[in-house]
Amino acid sequence: MTDLVYLDNNATTPPLPEVVTAMREALEGAFGNPSSLHGPGIRARALVDAARDEMATLIGAPKSEVIFTSGATESINTAIFGAIAASKITPARFVTTAVEHEAVIEISELLAARGVEIERVGVDAEGRLDLDAWRKALARPTTIASLMLANNETGVILDVPAASAIAHEAGALVHVDAVQAVGKLAFSVEALGADLLSLSAHKFHGPKGTGILYWKRGARIKPLVNGASQEAGRRAGTENVAGIVGMAAAARHMRQGLAARRQHLTAMGARIEAGLAKIAGTRINGAGAARVPGTVNVSFEGIEGSAVVLTAAREGVCLSAGSACSAAQFGGSHVLEAMGVPYPYLHGAVRWSCSEHTTEADIDRALEVVARAVGYLRAMRPGAAEA
Ligand code: PLP
Repeated sequence: MTDLVYLDNNATTPPLPEVVTAMREALEGAFGNPSSLHGPGIRARALVDAARDEMATLIGAPKSEVIFTSGATESINTAIFGAIAASKITPARFVTTAVEHEAVIEISELLAARGVEIERVGVDAEGRLDLDAWRKALARPTTIASLMLANNETGVILDVPAASAIAHEAGALVHVDAVQAVGKLAFSVEALGADLLSLSAHKFHGPKGTGILYWKRGARIKPLVNGASQEAGRRAGTENVAGIVGMAAAARHMRQGLAARRQHLTAMGARIEAGLAKIAGTRINGAGAARVPGTVNVSFEGIEGSAVVLTAAREGVCLSAGSACSAAQFGGSHVLEAMGVPYPYLHGAVRWSCSEHTTEADIDRALEVVARAVGYLRAMRPGAAEA
């Protein structure tokens, strides 16, 4: 990536060298089916077991409560559909927030169409969860509540411990989407009050198509992927051994370097914001809230964020308009809308998301390219010449 400046790490991260090495070794040396009883199978099983230990340590959970999935989207689907399928409350009731990832939003719409009661609780102007509204939504018996720990678009941290305590009073299971927090925040399932928690390897320098679901012992949910008895009957399908091994190598790295990485990401975020402050008509979304370090969501008044992203991409600077998942749709962001971001800024959002590999030179080059793009796009606006 010599000429690329990659500042889209909330969309995905490049795999670490040790991840690639571990995966190659697993593919070459442990091709067996982990359910087989012979040597190759036993070797594959040992790798999966060691990886489960590593993932359990990362989130402070017992090993037996971690299951491997194809990524956070599957984990989220399993948690929410699984809880609704096992609900003792009729009609089942699902409470979530207005700023969740598309996976949760889409599930809530599908469930509403099936007669499940849905509430999407709002956030304040900085993107923080409205805990009073959350409490009101959970005044009635509820099957499951789901919220994210850190928002993928703004980096804003939601008060999950407070929200989960309220949800538990309503008898609800609590699912936490902690995808954007790994390697940026210290957390544990116990401190969060999570009964279910989803992670995705490719957001922390692991491979794509691999994730975990923390499934607390006794949490009433039905499996989503049914078949043979892998993962103690909770997720059928032959394990993605190389993916699992790669994820564990990435998790080890994330856990060990947390303090230094946080410091680095904080410095990178501050450098981005200081540079953006020199461009007129900008607004940092969520600036007043606690955020994960290294994520900056900026709106440029009166221009489309996607136009800035496409212009910067031509010069090798990788940014994102909103989330990667909605980037191709060129629509406004549901997260910024929920925060009540004023109209002239709503479509002008650009997300900068750093990793431990981001350098000061990367930021400076991106700032220079973006400042030029913004100036150019503003000059191109209809009526700009007469103004
Ligand atoms: N949740 C959040 C907050 C995300 O940012 C993402 C990825 O964009 C997901 C869930 C989905 O993760 P995966 O790509 O593993 O399906």
